[in-house]
Amino acid sequence: MTSPIWHPFTQHGLNETIPHVVRADGASLHLVDGGTLIDAISSWWVTTHGHCHPRIAQAIAQQAGQLDQLIFASYTHEPAEEVARGLIELAPRAEGRDPLAHVFFSDSGSTSVEVALKMALGYWHNRALDGLSAPRHRILVLEHGYHGDTIGTMSVGERGVYNAAWTPLLFDVGTIAFPAPGAEQQTLDALEAACKEHPAAFIVEPLVLGAGGMLIYSPEILRQMAEICARHDVLFIADEVMTGWGRTGTIFACEQAGVVPDIMAVAKGITGGSVPLAATLATARIFDAHKSQDRARLFYHSSSYTANAISCAAAAANLAIWREEDVLGRIAALEKNMSQRLGRLALHPAFTNARQLGTIVAIDLIAQDAGYLSDLAPRLRTFFLDRGILLRPLGNSIYLMPPYCTDVDQLDHIFAALSAAGDAFGASA
Ligand SMILES: *Cc1c(COP(=O)(O)O)cnc(C)c1O
Repeated sequence: MTSPIWHPFTQHGLNETIPHVVRADGASLHLVDGGTLIDAISSWWVTTHGHCHPRIAQAIAQQAGQLDQLIFASYTHEPAEEVARGLIELAPRAEGRDPLAHVFFSDSGSTSVEVALKMALGYWHNRALDGLSAPRHRILVLEHGYHGDTIGTMSVGERGVYNAAWTPLLFDVGTIAFPAPGAEQQTLDALEAACKEHPAAFIVEPLVLGAGGMLIYSPEILRQMAEICARHDVLFIADEVMTGWGRTGTIFACEQAGVVPDIMAVAKGITGGSVPLAATLATARIFDAHKSQDRARLFYHSSSYTANAISCAAAAANLAIWREEDVLGRIAALEKNMSQRLGRLALHPAFTNARQLGTIVAIDLIAQDAGYLSDLAPRLRTFFLDRGILLRPLGNSIYLMPPYCTDVDQLDHIFAALSAAGDAFGASA
């Protein structure tokens, strides 16, 4: 029987296999036919400690029987309070910089970024009402960026085949070239020039552009970009949706650059990857620009499940795991194990441009036709699926982003499959 489900990012006309998963634990997905897959991309970058972590599962079960969902406009509950306090405690901080002090909840990475953009524009709107500044509306973005699939987040992301149908509706932004190795100064100069035109904000994925192809840049460049924005009073928005929760080796990527953004979006691993939740953190000046006796200035944004109590209980359990267990130690060990294996794979003639940041590794396959729409990526997907591995290459870039519990046997299996893919698909093959 055919399924009525319309899957995301799936071309149903190609009749690809759609694996049916019934159960998951650690880094493993168990299929309805009895097979097992290694989840080498953490179910699209969300699973951090591993699937069905007992502490998180138990917190969800307990909360589901106590308070499930509550209107969050002018009501509150303890799980949300606990998560908000925990986020403020963990957020990046630096001497002489205003700390992130306020937490606005939503339910996905895209909405947390929408909220970040609306906060930045609301800040300038309310400042203008007070006659403190001219209104500012322009958003600066980094080339190859990705911030979500809603109209607003597509507007601040890279334009391409994946949003061509909606391009006429996307709002105009200022695009700053990616700080590619050797071209960093051009990026900094372009940002400086663009900041002189009084844009409202600059949004970046700190240290690594995920969907853009796992493009890595240095903490020093991130630091300098934030400093340029601060110098010109342009709000600096960090989209830590993918980089947060240890993925780059520190809890948040901004820490490595000593950067405290004005606004920071977090989602994906906030619940350990168990249930949906997101948050947008802001400094006092962003919050204070909306705080007034005047109802017209309140922050007009909400969604039905804002700060859902069950999701918050899962996030609170995740925060407890971070506080009480040596998660960074596990990440460092995984990082090292991946690095050793990547070093060997990089010697394979079919691969180039091996790169790593924390527990993200990526390598490019030298293939004949490697564009985004070529059938290389789906063929690679099938190749890995046949070997019991869930991978989803970006064009010819193959990347791993496994849960932190992934063991060396699983890594060996994954890297053997990568090497075999080089043999089978490399241009010289
Ligand atoms: C995944 C992602 C988003 C969107 O998050 P969703 O939960 O899928 O809406 C936004 N920004 C970055 C950097 C992401 O990787």
